Order: sequence, then structure tokens, then C-alpha cells
Amino acid sequence: MTILRAMVLDRPGTPLWMRESPVPAPGTGELLIAVKACGVCRTDLHVVDGELPHPKLPIVPGHEIVGRVVAIGPGVTGFAADERVGVPWLGATCGVCPYCRAGRENLCDAPQFTGYTCDGGFASHMVADARYCFPLGEAGDDAEIAPWLCAGLIGWRSYHMATKGAATKGLALGLYGFGAAAHILAQVAAWRGCRIHAFTRAGDKAAQDFARSLGAVWAGASEEAPPEPLDAAIIFAPVGALVPLALKAVKKGGRVVCGGIHMSSIPSFPYALLWEERQVMSVTNLTRDDAREFLDIAPKAAVHCAVTRYPLAQANEALADLRDGRLQGAAVLIP
Ligand SMILES: [Zn+2]
Ligand SMILES: [Zn+2]
Repeated sequence: MTILRAMVLDRPGTPLWMRESPVPAPGTGELLIAVKACGVCRTDLHVVDGELPHPKLPIVPGHEIVGRVVAIGPGVTGFAADERVGVPWLGATCGVCPYCRAGRENLCDAPQFTGYTCDGGFASHMVADARYCFPLGEAGDDAEIAPWLCAGLIGWRSYHMATKGAATKGLALGLYGFGAAAHILAQVAAWRGCRIHAFTRAGDKAAQDFARSLGAVWAGASEEAPPEPLDAAIIFAPVGALVPLALKAVKKGGRVVCGGIHMSSIPSFPYALLWEERQVMSVTNLTRDDAREFLDIAPKAAVHCAVTRYPLAQANEALADLRDGRLQGAAVLIP
């Protein structure tokens, strides 16, 4: 009998522990997947730290999953045994609520989220709703592709929001917080001709050098004024105080997009920072169309993820390194 090893959260604020159980058979519409790599996202940290309400408990976190199909449940078509697939944060949607019917399934009224309301990829195996899994092809390394499944997708959706579909050649784009999502998006946006301005914690020279190495034309502290007014900015760091700073940095009509699922409170700020048709908005979850678009474009843009690999059993160490800002790029668990 094959054993499923999973790192489990019993209660927010406590460490994950390794659980062993028999590998289940996939149900109707499901795939059984052998996990090859699972990225560690800031959202996992929010779940583990109790910053997101009502997780399923106990829960196996993890929603940046690259794996191989082991078994195919009844009713599933379009997947083959041993095919490489990706599983993202969006685990399922209802298909019938007003948002789903309007093509905005990211806002579904009755969604499932991988690693939050259904078990995720901090494990050797998992089952997933096949309709929300993506074929990944064979090009590229499992661990280096894993962060595409959330950091990449959310960055891509945020970029669409920030640029409002405008031509991006020469567009000055600010990225606040240069972690996993920004390091992927910087490569895609630079490839599309954006002028990337990377904002990090004051004095974080390593992150600023890292940003420049990925195509940023400027990198500095979040409190600094960029060398040119920005057309748009995306905030990936979960820090509300960055919102007025980013508003100050964008030009008239510019947009500030908050890409995270959780953020500390936004301090009050003078109306003059919002005046002149500046906008502040958030990005929530993803649609499958976002995923298909990004998974098509990322190889064309030759996106390369900087990853730090951890054995599955060291999930707590990976989470701690992310929490403490010790990572450059993304942490990835290897079962
Ligand atoms: Zn729905
Ligand atoms: Zn995520």
C-alpha cells in the first residue's frame, strides 16, 4: 500500500506535523496526483498564522502544486496517466452564482480553495478537481515552475488590473515588495517593455540588487520617491502603509493594485493623494482563463524562478524563512 505523507495544520498558530495515511482513490471528477514540488506562498503563512477566517481544520496547506497524474477518477476526460499537471489556489467554483455566470469565477459565492478549504500540496499525494487542474507539458523543472501556480498567476492578474489593458511598452510600473510574485512578474513585464521600479524594505540591498538583475530599471526603499512618476503600482507586501506611499508615487489617473489576500490596516491619508482620478483596488483569487494565459506566456517570456528547496518534512522551516524575510524568490517543498 502506498502511503500519503502530508504536513498537517491542526490549529492556527501551531506547527505543522507529518501525518501518514493510505493514499485515497480519486472520486468522480477527481485526479489523484503525486506531488513533485509545492511552492510556499504568503497565503499559506496567513492560513498557518490564523490571519484568514474559517480554514478547514485540520488542513494540508499548499496551492502551488506541480505533480503527475497517478489515477483518474470516473468522468474525467482530457488527462493521461503520468501527465504533468499544475494545481492552483482556485480549487473549485459553483458555476451557477451571478459571478460565475458573468465569467468572474474568481469572485464565486461558493468556492473551494486549495490548501485552505480543501487539502493542498504540502504532501506526497493529493486529490484535486480535474476541472481546475492544468496540463503543464514537460519543459522546465518541477520546483522552478511551482511558484507560477500562485505567485505567477496573481502577479499576472494584478498586472492586467494595473495596466488596464493598455499597451505596456515604456509604461512605468512600480512593484512594492520584491518576493516571489514580484520576481516573476518583473520578468514578464520587462519582457513586455515595462520600466520596472522595485520597492523594498529600506536598506535591503540584496533584494534591490536581485530586482535589478531581473530587469528593474530602478530599485530603492518603499519610502523613496522613484526617479520618474509611475503609471501604475502593484503592492505585493501585506503592508497597508504602502498604499499611501504608492498613491504618492503614481501620476494622475494612475492605479494602485493590492495583490495580496491579507494586508495590515491602511493608515488614513490626505485626499489629495487620491484626487486626480487615482484609483486603489484589490485583486482577488484567479480565474482559469488567467491561468491558461499566464501558463502560455511564462515560457515565452523565459520566466526563471529563483527557488530554495526544502524537504517536505521541513515545511515549518520554509514557512519561518518566508515569515522572517530570509528568502530570495520562492520556497518550494519537495516530497
Ligand atoms: Zn460561483
Ligand atoms: Zn498563493
